[in-house]
Amino acid sequence: MLLDGFGRRVDYLRLSVTDRCDLRCSYCMPEGFKGYQEPRDWLSFDEIERLLAVFARLGLKHIRLTGGEPLLRKSLPTLAQRLAALPGIEDLSLSTNGTQLAKHAARLHRAGVTRLNVSLDSLDRTRVRAICRRDALPQVLAGLEVARNEGFRPIKINMVALASTTDEDIAAMVAYCMARGFVLRLIETMPVGAAGRDAGFLDLHPVRERLRERFGLIDGVVAGGGPARYLVSPDGSFQIGFITPISQHFCETCNRVRLGVDGMLHLCLGQNDCVDFRTPLRAGGSDAELEQQLRSALQAKPWRHEFRERPQQVVRLMSSTGG
Ligand code: SAM
Ligand code: SF4
Repeated sequence: MLLDGFGRRVDYLRLSVTDRCDLRCSYCMPEGFKGYQEPRDWLSFDEIERLLAVFARLGLKHIRLTGGEPLLRKSLPTLAQRLAALPGIEDLSLSTNGTQLAKHAARLHRAGVTRLNVSLDSLDRTRVRAICRRDALPQVLAGLEVARNEGFRPIKINMVALASTTDEDIAAMVAYCMARGFVLRLIETMPVGAAGRDAGFLDLHPVRERLRERFGLIDGVVAGGGPARYLVSPDGSFQIGFITPISQHFCETCNRVRLGVDGMLHLCLGQNDCVDFRTPLRAGGSDAELEQQLRSALQAKPWRHEFRERPQQVVRLMSSTGG
């Protein structure tokens, strides 16, 4: 079992397979961003598989493929298949902006990806274009239909709540998700990078109470729901989660770390602590050395983020860490 220095069990890794993206969401990446990692610095599939096999032997159980936009990494289904087959890995999931989902959904599902999170901040095409700086809504909706027919379960819609998000935006998304059996999750904007800091923050507590009343929702517990706190419809068919890192942080139950495409293991989304795994991988380090490095990295995992106290602290972009 992998424990951090505070006794928290770490069994979940978010793997950024690329820091590139075809969108420029205003809260995530600056419009003219050019500072991508060079391909020679990306971990190869062999390197990723080897490192995660070591993690899995120590207790890693859940892997989420993310980015940047993970569907931009060539041959992603091949990597997915290799990771899903690692002994100890119980579950492989994917976070995507959905623009390329229609094309890749079938192969990813066959490769062993079962659970899907799709980011979608509005059902209004003009608003999506303003937030993502690309006209993405039609492709995302088409991708979601393909994924639903392909049999991904659950499909969760991640909607970042911006200062400009209205109750009507959210109500439209609730209706859309209810009709399709999707789980909806509202996320408070985090001050990760300058884009995250400038995006504006909406406190989800009052929003939650208004939604409870409007849709007759009740408190619920959702298996595998992660840090979200849920409201559900009385018959349990609809679930909406609230991820509130700012208004009510959940660091005491944090079970995760993030591996960048460059092999940096980020120990906390809201802190700068990280450990380089690419160098030992390429220098011929043994599995025992990687194990040791992982154990000591986890001892350095910070207790909590300081998004409120020190919002300037994280300068790297969400897209480079693997959100
Ligand atoms: N491109 C994929 C996507 O958009 O789902 C995967 C990577 S993205 C960085 C992962 C998640 O981080 C998305 O749900 C996105 O909405 C969220 N995200 C990005 N920047 C954020 C911020 N500043 N605060 C809160 N969530 C953010
Ligand atoms: Fe790209 Fe995802 Fe960041 Fe949007 S949130 S810019 S889709 S990485």
